[in-house]
Amino acid sequence: MVLVDLMYKGWDMIDEERLGQRFSALVQIDSESGSEALIAKVLEKELVALGATVVFDDAGAKVNGDCGNLVATFKGNTDVAPVMLSGHMDTVVPGKGVKVLFEDGVFRSDGTTILGSDDKSALAIILEVMQIIKENNLPCPPVEVVMTVGEEQGLLGAKNLDFSLLKSKFGYILDAVDTEGIVNRAPAANKISAKIYGRAAHAGGTPENGVSAIYAASCAIAKLELGRLDEETTCNFGIISGGAATNIVPEYVEIHGEARSHDPAKLEQVTHTIVSTFENTMAELQTEGDSVPRVDMIVRNDFPNTSIPEDHEVIKLARKAAANLGRDMACKTSGGAADANVFFGKGIAAGVIGTGMTDVHTLKESIALKDMVSCTQLVLEILQIHATGEAAL
Ligand SMILES: [Zn+2]
Repeated sequence: MVLVDLMYKGWDMIDEERLGQRFSALVQIDSESGSEALIAKVLEKELVALGATVVFDDAGAKVNGDCGNLVATFKGNTDVAPVMLSGHMDTVVPGKGVKVLFEDGVFRSDGTTILGSDDKSALAIILEVMQIIKENNLPCPPVEVVMTVGEEQGLLGAKNLDFSLLKSKFGYILDAVDTEGIVNRAPAANKISAKIYGRAAHAGGTPENGVSAIYAASCAIAKLELGRLDEETTCNFGIISGGAATNIVPEYVEIHGEARSHDPAKLEQVTHTIVSTFENTMAELQTEGDSVPRVDMIVRNDFPNTSIPEDHEVIKLARKAAANLGRDMACKTSGGAADANVFFGKGIAAGVIGTGMTDVHTLKESIALKDMVSCTQLVLEILQIHATGEAAL
């Protein structure tokens, strides 16, 4: 079994120290959302040294950042379908001047910043995988590495990605916690805003001349069902602002919320209910001949859903790879969005796999080197199985 020999060799080829050092170097490069240019230059240099052709798209200009999405293409040495590997280059705040501590096999920051394992663990792992393949001349499918900008700002890089640069129809995004899970379902979401207009009046002198926008908004909200609507649908209003003073009948208030569902039809239904509830409530409150209260509703699709069937090649490959490594691989449903949602909407089935990052977006963020090694093994194994045609067994 030549194949098995090759695969075992592959696992042994992971250079843990190099992986750790690369990760440590990447998290020390500041790359808060919108400021990814510096880390992108470093990644470009490494990817080119590994044999990739690297281009940047123009997403940076579109999202007010200093850098576009990085797309690196490895030709590979086998004639199989291309695979995408992806992670995001940006971090949340406070992400400047990260000082890395490494103790008992675990990386953390000094507690004054985030660590940035979300998502630089992905970048380090992808580089390590491609380096192992190059150094050992292993079978390699065509690989398209996509390192996005602005993910933490609402998937901005992915939403503005030049998809004409990609040929892959499936791939893996390394941007979750669990190294033995793959996210194949995530909801679609709409952002919903209501701008409610009333009429100002002195609250003590002539309140009868006023129409309270806050009261009108409250009447509409009271009629809505919020929170978890069913097992796959949620709704929330998270921001309300308006009014000027306690002695003025408020003439304006705006409310911002969202709805999510794994079922696009349900999302449409919930959104429609919210919009019509606001509009009908305003109509009910208007006295004859008056034009207020009135509402302007603004609905914007935030991201599409992800729904990859369990018998899809991307899942089968990951499960086969995990099985070869003696591990489990569970399909997972997420309540949040990732770049994967945008890719799915563009016809690329991207499963989201974990790198071991924990307590992300907090000062306690950490990641164990052994988890990054596990993820590296998995991705390497996936590419080996795919390249050697052992896929979909
Ligand atoms: Zn992330």
